[in-house]
Amino acid sequence: MYADVIVPLALNRLLTYAVPETLESMVAVGKRVTAPVGKKNYTCLIRRIHRNPPEQYAVKSLLAVLDDRPTVTELQLQHWEQLSGYYLCSMGEVMKAALPGGLRTAFRPLSEAFVRLHPSISSEEQLHGCLDALKRAARQEALVLSYLSFAGTLDFAHPHETPKKQLLQEKPWAAALTACVKKNILMVVTRETGRLDLSATVSKAAPALSAAQRQARDEINALFRQKNVALLHGVTASGKTEVYIDLIAEQLRRGRQVLYLLPEIALATQIIERLQSVFGNIVGVYHSKYNDAERAEIYHAVSSHYRVILGARSSLFLPFDSLGLIIVDEEHETSYKQYDPAPRYHTRDAAIMLAQLHRASVLLGTATPSMESYYNARAGKYGLVTLTERYHRVLPPAIEVVDTVRERKRRKMHGLFSQTLLDAIGGALDKNEQVILFQNRRGYAPFVQCAECGYIPRCTQCSVSLVYHKQGNMLRCHYCGASQPLPAVCPECKSAGIQTKGFGTERAEDDLQLFFPQARIARLDVDAARAKHAYSRILGNFAQRRIDILVGTQMITKGLDFEHVSLVGILNADALLSFPDFRAHERSFQLMTQVGGRAGRKDKQGRVIIQTAQPTNPVIYLVREADYNSLFNLQLHERREFHFPPYSRLTSITLKHRQPDTLQQAAAALRNLLAPTLQQRLTGPFQPAVNRIQNRYLACFWVRLERGANAGALKHFLTEQLAALHQQQGFSGVEATVDVDPL
Ligand code: ADP
Ligand code: ZN
Ligand code: ZN
Repeated sequence: MYADVIVPLALNRLLTYAVPETLESMVAVGKRVTAPVGKKNYTCLIRRIHRNPPEQYAVKSLLAVLDDRPTVTELQLQHWEQLSGYYLCSMGEVMKAALPGGLRTAFRPLSEAFVRLHPSISSEEQLHGCLDALKRAARQEALVLSYLSFAGTLDFAHPHETPKKQLLQEKPWAAALTACVKKNILMVVTRETGRLDLSATVSKAAPALSAAQRQARDEINALFRQKNVALLHGVTASGKTEVYIDLIAEQLRRGRQVLYLLPEIALATQIIERLQSVFGNIVGVYHSKYNDAERAEIYHAVSSHYRVILGARSSLFLPFDSLGLIIVDEEHETSYKQYDPAPRYHTRDAAIMLAQLHRASVLLGTATPSMESYYNARAGKYGLVTLTERYHRVLPPAIEVVDTVRERKRRKMHGLFSQTLLDAIGGALDKNEQVILFQNRRGYAPFVQCAECGYIPRCTQCSVSLVYHKQGNMLRCHYCGASQPLPAVCPECKSAGIQTKGFGTERAEDDLQLFFPQARIARLDVDAARAKHAYSRILGNFAQRRIDILVGTQMITKGLDFEHVSLVGILNADALLSFPDFRAHERSFQLMTQVGGRAGRKDKQGRVIIQTAQPTNPVIYLVREADYNSLFNLQLHERREFHFPPYSRLTSITLKHRQPDTLQQAAAALRNLLAPTLQQRLTGPFQPAVNRIQNRYLACFWVRLERGANAGALKHFLTEQLAALHQQQGFSGVEATVDVDPL
């Protein structure tokens, strides 16, 4: 008997092993096994069992079977295969992403030792014989008798298992137990156990939907009878969550499971509480912040206990057995795309593949759809439902645009802040209302420069300037993390004229404190959130109004629902609009609309102030008009003209190497391999904006495939050509990464 196994490495095929006779009865597809690969042993996963000896290589044997029952279902394996094919990565790489750490090694996460009768004892007589033999070993005999009293009536085929702890509590004689085990009278087995609290909890009733929400719910249900994906385009505060809850309840009535995906689970406390209050403890939460043991435990409880899983992208890989609905909330969020390592999957698209396997439906929800999803909805591939009314008919925020160029001329700019914005903040504070300010750069200043000679400190390993962080008085590289103290004198000309340039969140926070000395100001960005629980602590303080003004990066835009925020300020919209990317306008619209949506709740209309040097930019105008449709049409026009998604499928290839010459030669060689076949579909090699990271130089290619073209053939071709490149002299060390549908 042979088994083809998935090895947790970037290996493009499965490896075949002989199954030793002793393991034949134990192997099954989806079970974890220990297998030798090279000089090491790995925890691998069985994909197939067969009787065909491999031809190319001498076959090794499996060493152990680690599972009683399969850890991964056939359906999950099919999903892995789809992902590996679509995103051009190995099954081993998908396995590494899919299985929580505790299941990727032979380490048993939470286990308990049990004592049972040895299997060689199969009758009353045999048992009495053993007991007789123990007449002179009083403790051993007492221990066996104690076990028998726990066991009750004995079923020799399935003898009772008593927790070892319990047995030794009564008869604290570990040495005697060891002796009985040696004599093949008792046996110790280890079993996985849980410590999840699965006791029942009281649940509240689901919400009564508003008329608009009810209608959206009905439309969604009707669409699901014809299509498996629907897009819910609902403005912020329209109550999409309530619609989800209603749809979840329906699935539970039908006995199906629900997966509720969120881009950033650390922010989801409000939603978790909301769901648990309605559905009780059948709601499980899963994300990478849990430790390995906890995740392994939740993994196992998905088939035995949980009916609703709320999670970040990794929860796609849980062993669902009867999935009926997947909700992808905030489907436009870029954090749904996994960048590194492979598989570089998009959670939304991976969710659609998973749902097809389960014959489940997918609901994509957002106030600002991605171009791709909206395009699919317009084209009829997805159903489309819109919810235009805010719950309680709360008015949409009033959006004002401040022209920073004009204000500067009139001397009405104070650093990063216009007088208009400062007045608005002062007014809000006077009324005891809260303020959110959005600034897309972290740190104090994006760079520093010598006033005498113009020198700008740069990272020694990456082609970027260093960002000044006032905290710790450091210069930091935002690409590789390298840091150094801010030099007191210029390293070039030795003058003491080093100055900070531009504005980050740290500086915004500092300056603000000067304008409003009484205000309680906090900052929320990656740096502030680094300490454990800092994220939820800051948000908690803001929710409880222990903070008046919250300054932050896009971390503050995600799904927060605060009642007392009356003003939102976007400090520098230009940083968003001028981002060198074909999605910059789509992104800017999404970010400004999302952060603006935080202003105003219940009885108060919110106010949003956008500071920009380009007040006539159409994106600014459309944000103000809350006109997503026009933004979409405008963008669509550009995308068509330049053959960008959704009019093409984009795949990017990045080559990396320490030697710029080698890299350049390899890039030229790859172009020669690809261009004759791909022709005008190939762009590159070109240098990305940051062309050296951690001492490795980068060269990029884009492959643009028309919609409807054979993507499978392209993928096969790319894999072959990259392998051919690596076989050329001198290029084996050139790293190549392929990103399908990059963001
Ligand atoms: P969205 O996700 O669309 O931005 P939310 O789901 O956060 O909107 O809803 C906005 C606010 O309105 C929340 O405070 C929510 O509790 C409240 N809300 C929405 N729908 C209902 C409802 N049917 N019953 C009670 N409260 C609701
Ligand atoms: Zn200088
Ligand atoms: Zn660096």
